[in-house]
Amino acid sequence: MPLVGIDVTGNPDWNMGMLKITNLSKKFEVTDGKTIAVRNLDLEVVKGKFFVLLGPSGCGKSTLLRCVAGLEGIEEGEISLDGRLVSSAERGFSVDPEDRGIAMVFQTYAIWPHMTVFDNVAFPLTEAKNANLSRAKVQAKVKDILALVRLADYGAYSAATMSGGQQQRIALARALVREPKLLLMDEPLSNLDAKLREEMRDEIKQLTRALGVTTLHVTHDQTEAMALADSLAVMSAGKILQLGEPEHLYRRPVNRMVAEFLGRTNWLTGKVDRTNHAQTEMGGVSVILPASAVLGSDIRLGIRPEWAELTRDPRGGLDEYRGIVTGRSFLGDIVVYKVKVGGVELLIKSNAPDIPACGEVTVLVPPDRWVVFSGLGAE
Ligand code: ATP
Repeated sequence: MPLVGIDVTGNPDWNMGMLKITNLSKKFEVTDGKTIAVRNLDLEVVKGKFFVLLGPSGCGKSTLLRCVAGLEGIEEGEISLDGRLVSSAERGFSVDPEDRGIAMVFQTYAIWPHMTVFDNVAFPLTEAKNANLSRAKVQAKVKDILALVRLADYGAYSAATMSGGQQQRIALARALVREPKLLLMDEPLSNLDAKLREEMRDEIKQLTRALGVTTLHVTHDQTEAMALADSLAVMSAGKILQLGEPEHLYRRPVNRMVAEFLGRTNWLTGKVDRTNHAQTEMGGVSVILPASAVLGSDIRLGIRPEWAELTRDPRGGLDEYRGIVTGRSFLGDIVVYKVKVGGVELLIKSNAPDIPACGEVTVLVPPDRWVVFSGLGAE
């Protein structure tokens, strides 16, 4: 797709990313004032990578996506796509959505029920602005993309007769058939049941990687975000709280909100009583402390349920704590225990074979497994 917009590749700030968002703000006028949906946000998506925006409902994910698509105007900032400035509040400039080289997939598949599967997928090639491919080329492209989404035999079927999963694959094929510079996906799996969602997630991952298409995907589902993302940004109240590889965010969240968003955590409060040691609700805990946590200062400590280990008998290490099993849930692939240690009940996932269903156990937490924040603020 040819791109319209101002060439910014000569700009020393341009880094050859596919999408660059600088200082973007978007406000909505509402009856009692203004809602700031996106606040001075910066973001870059590297060519060929899968970028996921994760955040709670109302944090501004969809608005950000719509700004990138050109469906919303912006009050502040700039958006560049593949070296071309496509939105600039300062210059009062915005390229039309259909000239941005993007494609979008929505939660509601937005396919045309009165058309065949083939015609739905061919639509961007035959009906869109600048559509000028020969009939034979359209046939070939649609055939190829239908094969990729495993609908090769369904071209002649009415789209209305397809299942939810198939309809979403049609929507995906229709988005990819024009070889977009950027694929935008807004909660595309939310309408599918759990099993289908997992299957489609794997398909999307495999397909976008195989085609090397740069993708910006929005979701509030932590598992989906982690499974799909090369890079992940956790958003809250119109801002990005942390951005990086999913594993890094999971292991080293910058604050409690990011940690909570990516999965369950047991939280404790503590007071530093000596080097790499704090008094907590669990008793004395060995922990790697940040430089800012000085003697006597308050800290918050977090441990994910699978980071603590259980053994029946003590081993005599400084990083182990005696506890009492107060609950046990067998989940098939893992067992979740509730273990009371001192004045706190920890949730611990374990597959250790000899853990009693009640009674005494040993909890092992190596000092470097704790997530530690200075201070006790809500963060
Ligand atoms: P969800 O997953 O529920 O869609 P989201 O993170 O995508 O949430 P947005 O839909 O981007 O969030 O909404 C961000 C904020 O902007 C919300 O407070 C929302 O009410 C507000 N908002 C979004 N669109 C409009 C609009 N057209 N008019 C007024 N306010 C809007």
